[in-house]
Amino acid sequence: MSLQAPRGTQDILPDRTPRWQFVETRFREVLARYGYGEIRTPMFEPTELFQRGVGTSTDIVQKEMYTFQDRKGRSLTLRPEGTAAVARAVVEHKLLATGQPQKMWYLGPMFRYERPQAGRYRQHSQVGAELLGVESPAGDFEMIALFVDLLDAVGLRQTRVLLNSVGDATCRPAFTETLRTYLRAHLSELCPDCVRRTEENPLRVLDCKVPGCREVARGIPRIQDHLCPACRAHQDELRTLLDRAEIPFEMADHLVRGLDYYTRTVFEVEHGGLGAQSAVGGGGRYDRLIEDVGGPSTPGVGFSSGVERILLALEAEGAALPGALTPEIMLVTVGEGEERREAMRLARRLRRRFRVDLDLRGRGLAAQMKAADRAGATLALLIGEGELAAREWTLKTLATGAQERVPDRELETRLLAMLSQDKGRE
Ligand SMILES: [Zn+2]
Ligand SMILES: [Zn+2]
Repeated sequence: MSLQAPRGTQDILPDRTPRWQFVETRFREVLARYGYGEIRTPMFEPTELFQRGVGTSTDIVQKEMYTFQDRKGRSLTLRPEGTAAVARAVVEHKLLATGQPQKMWYLGPMFRYERPQAGRYRQHSQVGAELLGVESPAGDFEMIALFVDLLDAVGLRQTRVLLNSVGDATCRPAFTETLRTYLRAHLSELCPDCVRRTEENPLRVLDCKVPGCREVARGIPRIQDHLCPACRAHQDELRTLLDRAEIPFEMADHLVRGLDYYTRTVFEVEHGGLGAQSAVGGGGRYDRLIEDVGGPSTPGVGFSSGVERILLALEAEGAALPGALTPEIMLVTVGEGEERREAMRLARRLRRRFRVDLDLRGRGLAAQMKAADRAGATLALLIGEGELAAREWTLKTLATGAQERVPDRELETRLLAMLSQDKGRE
């Protein structure tokens, strides 16, 4: 049997990578305008980082991590998400000692052992941003605005921003107890995971997708009714900022996100084209995370989004996405020998400025012209005996069949003029 990529992973072939490059390029532009710098952390970290940073009661740490021992018996884990590693790096390199807010983004593969489904892979690509050192709702606002603008920049339209608060150390313990009391009276209606969550982290029952649990969640106490004055004021100011910037959002009682580290603000962006797993991404505030991984007490807020899911949503909207680049010029040799050697030399020269292709297998003229059409080239540059002798080349516009002769020394200038008329040139 032939070998295949592991279940839940995918090859992104050259006809699809232009879509990825398009999305990544737009992201980089927007992130630069917001003043965020890129951080690249290792693909694997000590397992303990995720136990402390993501939380031992989360599905991620309990069921979804790729954990292994290296040859010295150290427990390492392929990163399941980006925030804990950024927090670790910021603490390790003492970036917070400057007293300045830290603004960072990342893009790269994350690894989770999940059931593969549309847009969900065991190795998936995430883009995310973190803002450290800002306690005020201005930080939450900036993150939501940045996320919305990233999605806008790639052309995604049918998005909805959902917002909630999960409280803080002042108000969440009492709410958690209220919730636990309520859930204990409904244990028989809950899935086995939620029975466990009732004791470990009852907030997580709110975002369980099992129908029975959703039914129970319907009658559940609302955290919005249990926020302390400080959390209430934080949320009110954030809502005011969003209103003033005309960023539409909806309050969502059941939104808690899957991670333990969130405090106060949580948000998600949904897209109608994604079916049941409708989130494009989300994030929130995490004012205790930096301490949890051993750093100084520092507020933080961030988000992450799956690139596969963004592409899926764009495709669901029928967005025009770039395909593979076509050659601008196809070199075509009429004869053998010298003409082919000249084609090789000329190709290298023209490739400093243009997308150029040519036949490398010594095929005949007709086959080369056919290949030029199939490749979607704009121009064919013909090299024959006459052209070689006169040091001028025949340029053929493939769409119209029009031909002209151009002296060698004017070649680049003429090509630029002809190709700039063609919309394909960027
Ligand atoms: Zn459940
Ligand atoms: Zn509170």
